[in-house]
Amino acid sequence: MIVNKKSDGEVILRTAWGCFELQRLPKRSKELLRAWDAADEYLLNTVHKIIKPNEDNNLLIFNDSFGALAVTLHDLNPCVVSDSYLSQTATRLNLASNKLAETKMILLNSLEPLSGYFDYVLIKAPKTHAFLEDFLIRLLPVIDIKTQIIVAGMVKTLTASVWKLLEKLIGNTTTSLAKKKARLIFVKPNSQRNILTLPKPIYYSLENTNYSLCNYANIFSRERLDIGTRFLLANLPYLPQVKNIVDLGCGNGVIGLMLAEKHPQARLHFVDESFMAIASAQENFERAFNKSDNAQFYVTNALSEFTLESMDLIVCNPPFHQQNTLGDQIALTMFQQAYKVLKKGGQLWVIGNRHLGYHQRLKKYFQVSKLVASNSKFMIISTIK
Ligand code: SAM
Repeated sequence: MIVNKKSDGEVILRTAWGCFELQRLPKRSKELLRAWDAADEYLLNTVHKIIKPNEDNNLLIFNDSFGALAVTLHDLNPCVVSDSYLSQTATRLNLASNKLAETKMILLNSLEPLSGYFDYVLIKAPKTHAFLEDFLIRLLPVIDIKTQIIVAGMVKTLTASVWKLLEKLIGNTTTSLAKKKARLIFVKPNSQRNILTLPKPIYYSLENTNYSLCNYANIFSRERLDIGTRFLLANLPYLPQVKNIVDLGCGNGVIGLMLAEKHPQARLHFVDESFMAIASAQENFERAFNKSDNAQFYVTNALSEFTLESMDLIVCNPPFHQQNTLGDQIALTMFQQAYKVLKKGGQLWVIGNRHLGYHQRLKKYFQVSKLVASNSKFMIISTIK
């Protein structure tokens, strides 16, 4: 029998398919949040009545959070598409902790092409309209009128724009009753659907420069420069001696790009857990400098792959949520790792909303910290190891 570990939050997902132990990533010593939500439970219990396990079904899962859907439905050998390194890694870990093999499951990132045909498509509604649209366009060539598509989400995330998009691109929708604030949308593909050309990134001009920035669908502030990022760009460090600079949580890489311009002697390291972010950052760097031999690109969890005491400067506009959960946990982990990865005398520069109190948090690791600039919304803090 599987039992919950004492002192931790709930880790056993119980559905009509059975019980599975599931953990979130990054791991925290006292995790209170579950690795699934009511929408996952509702979806899994509903598809149990629809999908016959012994039939030869082709199942596609999109935007699973930490593997709740993929692990529970592993017997159906699903193809699992995600833009998140943490989600993919959590899926692998959760398969292993339930003693399930990954071999027959296909894990794809959000930019890899879909092929074949799918009988069932289970979609966990993503946070942004653009990312859902991008996926639906990629989906069109691999479904037909028999494909059953179900979109699951918490009621607050399933806005009218989600319905409109599904009806515009795929076909008629019907809706379930809400259960524990979760809802399902059933989508029936139209017989005549326009197969659209694969989605392309969008570009905007970076003010006061000649750069045009590439942004794939799941990028933070993809249509325009974020106001916090703009404030940071106006106050970037200039340290002519540094050799290795990290743009931590780089998004489209705009911070690293402007740091590279100011520090032509340095090697840039772009880090993000989103595949689309790193694809955007790489394209932006290569277009700006006609090469990428002075830069490295990492799809990974923060600084976990970096050697201790190896970097001179880390600049970070940290995430303030993970999927739909707000919080500073990832930011705090980034600060702690930055301290370890910086050489002695190395610097971490951080921007944050004033109310987040990052200046206090940074004091836990760095003895020297300085307020570089502030306005009514943001503070930029520099620290020295
Ligand atoms: N630097 C970009 C800018 O200023 O426009 C993006 C900043 S955005 C507030 C935070 C970024 O951190 C997002 O691109 C997000 O994908 C990334 N991120 C979130 N969790 C991460 C993690 N565990 N490791 C690496 N990057 C992460």
